Amino acid sequence: MSSHHKLLIIGSGPSGYTAALYAARAQFAPLVLTGEKHGGQLMWTTEVENFPGFPEGIMGPQLMLQMRQQAERFGAQLVDKYVTAVDFSQRPFKIWTQVPPGATGEQFEKSSPEELDPLLSQIRAGEPDYTADAVILSTGAVARMMKIPGEHEFLGRGVSTCAVCDAAFYRDRVTFVVGGGDSAMEDTLALTKFAKSVTVLHRRDSFRASKIMQERVLNHPKVKVLWNTAIKEIKGDKMVGSIVIETDGKQQELPADGVFLAIGHNPVSALFAGQIQLDAHGYIVTRQSASKPGVEAAQAALDDKGLLLFPTMTSVEGVFAAGDVVDIRYRQAITSAGQGCSAALDAERWLESQVV
Ligand code: NAP
Repeated sequence: MSSHHKLLIIGSGPSGYTAALYAARAQFAPLVLTGEKHGGQLMWTTEVENFPGFPEGIMGPQLMLQMRQQAERFGAQLVDKYVTAVDFSQRPFKIWTQVPPGATGEQFEKSSPEELDPLLSQIRAGEPDYTADAVILSTGAVARMMKIPGEHEFLGRGVSTCAVCDAAFYRDRVTFVVGGGDSAMEDTLALTKFAKSVTVLHRRDSFRASKIMQERVLNHPKVKVLWNTAIKEIKGDKMVGSIVIETDGKQQELPADGVFLAIGHNPVSALFAGQIQLDAHGYIVTRQSASKPGVEAAQAALDDKGLLLFPTMTSVEGVFAAGDVVDIRYRQAITSAGQGCSAALDAERWLESQVV
């Protein structure tokens, strides 16, 4: 038998927990399906120094635990399960958490829509575990990894996927950034404020980043670029000590204190493909998405006074989205939390507007 909820939140992290806190305080007793590894990307970071309210900084996992406890205190019900399928074609919306034999819950976070498709039809053939009148999607994004020795071992100990968060820890250190897109350029520029040197390792002989960002990087006196270069291994003891790189077939080992992987993020949205609109990068489109489909959705949702209705609503009425699964631009804990708050307020007002 499915259990029915007025508001169901999929995913944890700053957006999911903030949405849960606001919805709980509005007496909606939201159910939050957090994923087995709850808390999102901040569970993998060390100190967070840019979340307002913590002048001494706070450890990422501690911040997420506190957000979780705060949501629970006001009546949010948290269940540490992965969502494995949804059906948003009619209301109430249907949500499944069953994992088919031979599959793992994590697979539903990391696979492509094509890989998931056969599993999803199998799951949707059965009775849903939950139904809901409104849903908030806050499944976040996962940083792409290189799949090289050392990257997981030294994550948070010299390997980082967010220079905006971690650059300040690398004052006067020797750092490397991997990638050639806008994220790599941003990370490089963030590091130049602190590090002794920043070397960009790029696998091709030109960047794909916007010209203005490329120019800033290429003209910066602290920055060196190694073109046609692949990183093969990250080595160290307790912390990163060196990296092995390969340029035009020749390998060398270089001393390193920090390695920033900036090869892109994947929004965790494959589960929703075909159910709601996603953009070309797989991010969920809402009426406030910073993309062409987002602007088009917004234009179609202006009221007669020219105000945007329910900015966090997706292409399905009653389904809202917040945080990194929507946000290709900022991807910060604080912007994510802010969007979670907006989504809860939108969901609350929308649910109230449905009562006749
Ligand atoms: P991206 O544009 O997809 O760039 C990823 C970079 O990593 C590419 O240079 C790619 O190399 C490289 N790469 C990918 N896989 C790799 C691998 N396995 N080994 C080595 N290198 C690898 O990702 P992004 O930089 O995160 O940007 C994503 C989107 O967000 C873009 O549309 C970007 O413009 C936007 N963004 C905007 C801003 C801003 O406006 N402030 C900031 C950040 C991001 P190749 O070039 O060879 O493919």
